[in-house]
Amino acid sequence: MGDLKRLAVLGSTGSIGQQTLQVVRALPNQFRVIGLAAADNIDLFQQQITEFKPDFIYFRAEEPRLANVSSQFLALDNIAALPEVDMVVVATSGKAGLSPTLAAVRAGKNVALSNKESLVMAGEIITAEAKQSGAQILPVDSEHSAIWQCLRGESQKAARIMLTASGGPFLYYTPEQLNEVTVEQALAHPSWKMGRKVTIDSATLMNKGLEVIEAHWLFDMPYEHIDILIHPQSIIHSMVEFADSSIKAQLGYPDMRLPIQYALTYPERMPNPELPGVDWSQIKSLTFEKPDFDAFPCLKLAIEAGKKDGTFPAVLCAADEVAVELFLSWRLKFSEIAQLVGQVLSQHQPIAHPTLAEIIKADGWARERLNQLAGGE
Ligand code: MG
Repeated sequence: MGDLKRLAVLGSTGSIGQQTLQVVRALPNQFRVIGLAAADNIDLFQQQITEFKPDFIYFRAEEPRLANVSSQFLALDNIAALPEVDMVVVATSGKAGLSPTLAAVRAGKNVALSNKESLVMAGEIITAEAKQSGAQILPVDSEHSAIWQCLRGESQKAARIMLTASGGPFLYYTPEQLNEVTVEQALAHPSWKMGRKVTIDSATLMNKGLEVIEAHWLFDMPYEHIDILIHPQSIIHSMVEFADSSIKAQLGYPDMRLPIQYALTYPERMPNPELPGVDWSQIKSLTFEKPDFDAFPCLKLAIEAGKKDGTFPAVLCAADEVAVELFLSWRLKFSEIAQLVGQVLSQHQPIAHPTLAEIIKADGWARERLNQLAGGE
């Protein structure tokens, strides 16, 4: 049993965290959970501690119900850097993923990265630190996992990346219809089961914009060589084109456990009877089209922020995170997410090649500015 992969799962009660533990459960004798960290859902967290018996835990709030567990409490960043951990799964959502991702990368850990905001905010710093420490970043995002799988075995870089997008629940909506959509409608994603933040980001297509920036850093790909293709069936998870115009795609049923498992078991593939296959008799066609940048302005905002670089992507993430929270609590209309994020970006005074402190400062400024604008200031 000496070769069990020792995991720390950060964000264990969230959607990706829960699905990570489903994979761990489905592949007995492969993993040992050393650390668990969560921000909310204490009932589930207690169950996870009882089941996986981690040596170390972190919970965001003071919680009397954790008083009697035998696991040792540690700060989030310390769990990410534990010497006894082989792989850190960063499944925290939003900005909260940045600090532990950096801690894990600096400690030379392999990081199964589901949190895209950390790379969007601080891609230059994280990739440089990973190069220095030898840490490997294994993408969990389905599109990036697909690209990574397509690139395996190739000795050359890709010439072009085609990121696919389901288009979300509001594909083909007019701007007037988009103005009236409700929280419930936005949370009903047609193909993927994900957390609330990423589901709203998928409805605005901000998520796809963030994924373009994520792909830029993960695969060292110029923005001009990253395309987006709307593919509503969500069967092709992304494609890669090579110098000779040959194209590779990765296909599968849209289930996040597949890219999660690939990162966890890499470089091996393992049978998991719980993972659904594709029933080809049910798939009549695979279709592709260009995204509508006018109907989904978040996509344009994100790609522009990525190209301008510096502190712009951090401001984009921060403003979006606050705007999505306000939308989820009915304090913003759906179309105001893009309007306000755009306003915050246009008022930002950027810093090129920012330090982590400068990124954090830009993040704080953007959050405050978005709240002010939402409050009518
Ligand atoms: Mg994705």
